[in-house]
Amino acid sequence: MRTRTKIKIVAALLALVAAGCQGPQTTAPAVVTRDHTTSVEELARQLGLSVEDRDDAFVVLRGGGNTVLIFTHSDGRFFVNGKPIGSVGMVRKVGQTVYVAESLVSQIRPHLGAPITPSRPQPRVLRGNIVIDPGHGAHDPGTTSVTGVHEKTINYDVAEKVAAILERRGLGVTMTRQRNEYTELEARAEIANRRNADLFVSIHADSAPSPSAQGFTVYIANAASADSQRAARDISRAMATTGLENRGVRREDYRVLRTSRGPAVLVEMGYLSNRQDALRLQDSAFQDKLAAAIATGILDYLQ
Ligand SMILES: [Zn+2]
Repeated sequence: MRTRTKIKIVAALLALVAAGCQGPQTTAPAVVTRDHTTSVEELARQLGLSVEDRDDAFVVLRGGGNTVLIFTHSDGRFFVNGKPIGSVGMVRKVGQTVYVAESLVSQIRPHLGAPITPSRPQPRVLRGNIVIDPGHGAHDPGTTSVTGVHEKTINYDVAEKVAAILERRGLGVTMTRQRNEYTELEARAEIANRRNADLFVSIHADSAPSPSAQGFTVYIANAASADSQRAARDISRAMATTGLENRGVRREDYRVLRTSRGPAVLVEMGYLSNRQDALRLQDSAFQDKLAAAIATGILDYLQ
């Protein structure tokens, strides 16, 4: 056993040296072999943390004022105290147990307990879990823009950017679908219900017969709770800063809103049937701005 342990240590050191050779700008890749994996529980134990939250997509480890967020799909990212550190590499799931590369221990440890510099205070880490629903997907393209881009693609691009911003703030974020997947409407809301989400945000883009119709609308269900109304107002106010025309908060019994038991909103980001809106919504820099605004609205609601 002792010899095996030594071999393991030597292998780990070699891995670190190899990672170090790649220069300071590159993130050390997770060194993974079939035998060098560890369960996330064991990973947490080795780091002096405990598993605080998890679902199919991520695990949150906390302890001693540190938060480690690991996305448990292959090549998902991991974050320490809101800072992206690298890729988790290979992930193996056996029943309920998730195995990740043992080398994550040495990749995470140096980032734990980093003191917060008083001159640059870090944003407050919020607790909570948000479900982001990129509308449509796969065989259901949604509407198509005047320039030929599918709504499902724009929805996903913006949703992913919103999720990344919220994750950096330490929030647990669940996406209802992956890029090329479709999830049934009831299942989307059910994800939020099951996770007892603080907020469900469905992301869509609109279409109208008139090419002049433009602007964003935030929808809530007819019987929306006070929390849903407040979330819609916060998101609408933040989105108005993007320069998109503000069509206000409206009520409509969309299936995902009606099926959600907790606070839920549906954002129509703009009209893909309008040339100006369409060009903005498919532009990556504008998507960044829009995603930042939606995330700000969500964070305002959670404060
Ligand atoms: Zn749609």
